[in-house]
Amino acid sequence: MSGLKRRIAAQIAVAGPISVADYFAMCLFDPQDGYYVTREPFGAGGDFVTAPEVSQMFGELVAVWLVSAWRAAGEPDDAVLIEIGPGRGTLMADLLRAAARLAPRFVERARIAMVEASPRLTAMQKETLRASPARPSWHARLEEVEAGFQLLVANELFDALPCRQFVRTPAGWRERMVTLAEDGELAFAVGASGLDPALLPPGADDQPEGAVFEPAPARTALMEEIAARIARDGGAALFFDYGHLEAGFADTLQAVRAHRFDGVLENPGEADLTSHVDFAALARVATQAGLNVAVAEQGDFLLAMGLAERAGSLGAAGDEALRRKLSGEVERLAAPDRMGSLFKVMAASSLALPLPPFTQAD
Ligand code: SAH
Repeated sequence: MSGLKRRIAAQIAVAGPISVADYFAMCLFDPQDGYYVTREPFGAGGDFVTAPEVSQMFGELVAVWLVSAWRAAGEPDDAVLIEIGPGRGTLMADLLRAAARLAPRFVERARIAMVEASPRLTAMQKETLRASPARPSWHARLEEVEAGFQLLVANELFDALPCRQFVRTPAGWRERMVTLAEDGELAFAVGASGLDPALLPPGADDQPEGAVFEPAPARTALMEEIAARIARDGGAALFFDYGHLEAGFADTLQAVRAHRFDGVLENPGEADLTSHVDFAALARVATQAGLNVAVAEQGDFLLAMGLAERAGSLGAAGDEALRRKLSGEVERLAAPDRMGSLFKVMAASSLALPLPPFTQAD
């Protein structure tokens, strides 16, 4: 049994079952044994591969979008480029390299802020950006970042923030808890606390027994904070994550270890733990803050931003092996059966017009 599993079991034995959200948070961010605190999650040797680690083109196209938002706003001088949850720092490195070509003045003038909760990943990001001419600042929390026209990006951030789980029972929706089974292993159980019916999405009454609803107050709270800043100072943001456009009633909690699914309760702190992001809930928060919001599938967004053309121009300078590699990357990022459909992107901006390639704002 891992150290974290032993400690969680000891805590439950003394103080009773814990919520899925508390379990989720301990698995990822326990200061001693949390997954993001202790492990190297990304890349071929890690547990999963994220879009910026698949291809430099991902960060380049994010740069194209953010620079065009900056231009649409009249090239404000007080811009702050913010990434939340930068992982290894790869996306920011690719983004800055592309932005320096597209709009040198933007990179010269903008302040760059990296918001990262893990001290270990902060050190890695500093290493990745050491050669970059830009001088980012690092912050453990968004509230530490100074005001200014915000250009913000986050990839696979919200899926790493905890969700709660509620299960439909004959007595209504009840919170799912993590408890101890008789054999001393961790097990799920249905707890006593219910859910304010006002928080349930449409259709909740028609769900069968056993249906699961996953509200994520930590995600909506972060989106509220981001949206309030953009509404106050102006700006535009892009959020990529895997999830759904409408709230559903499925259990999407999953653990991944060494590129394979792992039992959610098997190896706390040793496996990545995520759940699908409810983009409808995030979009509602940003819309309520007065922002212009649009959501698309990642594949559609990247292709409309010129992914295939970018691969073509990079490939033209190289050999057949490079072209094969690039077309593999396009496939992986954008094909519907790879990351193209499951991953979504949400844009939120203070600008009155929807920013291309999003055609509608709702
Ligand atoms: N964006 C990177 C990493 C995704 S993993 C990529 O695409 O490769 C999630 C990242 O978010 C990690 O860097 C993790 O440490 C960070 N993170 C999670 N919760 C956070 C929070 N509340 N504030 C800042 N960073 C957070």
